[in-house]
Amino acid sequence: MSAPFLTEDSTGLDDLSVWPASTARLSQGHLSVGGVSLAGLADRFGTPAYVLDEDEIRARCRIYRAAFPQADVVYAAKAFLSRAMARWIAEEGLGLDVCSAGELELAHAAGFPPERMVLHGNAKTPRDIETALRLGVGRIVVDSPSEIARIAALAGSAGRQKVMVRVVPGVSAGGHEKIRTGTDGQKFGLSLTDGSAQHAIARVLGQAQLELTGLHCHIGSQITDVKPYLVAVRRMVGLMARVRESHGVTFPELDLGGGHGVAYRPGESGLDLTALARRLTAELSESCAAAALPVPRLVIEPGRAIAAPAGVALYRVLAVKHAGPKTFVAVDGGMSDNPRPALYGARYAPRLVGRPAGAESIMATVVGRHCEAGDVLASDVLLPGGVRPGDLLAVPVAGAYQVSMASAYNLVGRPPVVAVHEGTARLLIRRETQEDFRRRDIGA
Ligand SMILES: *Cc1c(COP(=O)(O)O)cnc(C)c1O
Repeated sequence: MSAPFLTEDSTGLDDLSVWPASTARLSQGHLSVGGVSLAGLADRFGTPAYVLDEDEIRARCRIYRAAFPQADVVYAAKAFLSRAMARWIAEEGLGLDVCSAGELELAHAAGFPPERMVLHGNAKTPRDIETALRLGVGRIVVDSPSEIARIAALAGSAGRQKVMVRVVPGVSAGGHEKIRTGTDGQKFGLSLTDGSAQHAIARVLGQAQLELTGLHCHIGSQITDVKPYLVAVRRMVGLMARVRESHGVTFPELDLGGGHGVAYRPGESGLDLTALARRLTAELSESCAAAALPVPRLVIEPGRAIAAPAGVALYRVLAVKHAGPKTFVAVDGGMSDNPRPALYGARYAPRLVGRPAGAESIMATVVGRHCEAGDVLASDVLLPGGVRPGDLLAVPVAGAYQVSMASAYNLVGRPPVVAVHEGTARLLIRRETQEDFRRRDIGA
């Protein structure tokens, strides 16, 4: 038996608050994003497909630059990267945070200025470091003692590379245990409490080929509260004061990483960027004044908050199954294009496109097509009671950590990414095909 019918008015089923600002209602329950009908996009590019609203990305970059006029805003490419995305980020005046030679080379090929890039990684390969030095990235963030001498050696006797040191400030924050990176006992950074951060700083200062521009921390992801950032600032400034005492140096920069949370479902709230900017700036100047330190230039590294709300995932319903009290709505994608529900228990608010308002709703669980019972895209969501195979299902807030984390599981093929802008659509990344799989599999 399915759940009792609920009416749309009482459920907020028609709430578009987490959708891109350009989203518009068309007739018969259809929607457009960036002036392009979602049903038309599904017909033209097939499903599953990812739609990215270029203007939403650019608007979010501008909100950051306006909220943090004194800071360097560096977009975290791992949330989503393509050559077009790298160009938009460059044009909006942001920097780019990369974690591999692959991300670095792609952005470089798109013309992204290397001096505005920051290389991260808890386990940088020789190729990552060599590529960063060869292309001339602006900063390399040191994450372990062993890479200090390696970067210095690869920089060569005449070289001088700007670096930062990633510190674990001992602040616990973030939407899920797997994305909390500010405490001891996880793999990133160098601990403030056991002295390994201080030790690494001393070693970096002793390398003539390295110029230490400041300290870095990234405390977690999908953080919706300002307070953990303020605690991190106090601890980082405390460390900067100790460094000045023992080495007589002050740093021109302080990088506080990203992690800014967004609303995935109506009624949720993201991190308030205006409040973050105001309170961070105040905390930084007070802490620095108390320690008689010059105020460093702030660097922030948002990924999700720029990309996630600009993306919409489109799926076709393939099967509807009533199993006991549950209704399963199975679509043509799943954990291969969006591993976040399985990884972090992430929750989404999918919506049926092309269903007139006023339809009665049922409680359903949207599942993917993969061979795992854990392949759930959204559990216990309200959908129109008449949902049936062939319907188009759209998932908002799909622009970050979905396409970039997509896999080849079941050889389904990773979906295409389509940019929409002022009523036109263009393909940024094409669908992965059987031919792609055959070409990689060179065994007899
Ligand atoms: C992932 C990451 C970011 C971006 O995190 P979001 O939660 O997407 O804002 C920024 N800096 C570093 C070092 C990261 O690893």
